[in-house]
Amino acid sequence: MSEHQIIILPQNPLWIPPSGMAAATQQFIAGLFPAAEHIEVTCTDEVRYYDCGGNFEHIHCPACYAELSVEQWHSMMDADYNAENNSFAMQQQALPCCGELCNLNQLQYSFEQGFGRFAIIMDNSVGVLDAATQAAIEVFLDNQPVKIIYRH
Ligand SMILES: [Zn+2]
Repeated sequence: MSEHQIIILPQNPLWIPPSGMAAATQQFIAGLFPAAEHIEVTCTDEVRYYDCGGNFEHIHCPACYAELSVEQWHSMMDADYNAENNSFAMQQQALPCCGELCNLNQLQYSFEQGFGRFAIIMDNSVGVLDAATQAAIEVFLDNQPVKIIYRH
């Protein structure tokens, strides 16, 4: 894999495609990104964390927009992680800034990061994914809104 990757996740971290769609997704994505050398479609029981690597800048509360410290975020990650099944529970947690309840996937990450059971991971052959391509992927995935992670 290149050190620049695009990871596409459904906005709903628990969503997985109906049977057969994961393999079809691989072909569909290969058609959209002919220059991508490695395309991986994963579908797992556990909810995995997908980071943006060295693109990480900061995390904000989606309610009051306060910046969360890395320590605060790590304690939320620890509270949500279940080592027994190697999965994140996506439970609602009270944020340290304002008490708003949200799950880890709803925090405002810069650059975007996310959680999911289903992911499309590929070499970044396009720089930034355009809106029309994102919309086509969402339609293909039974109209699931997606988030795009740029990992470096
Ligand atoms: Zn807040």
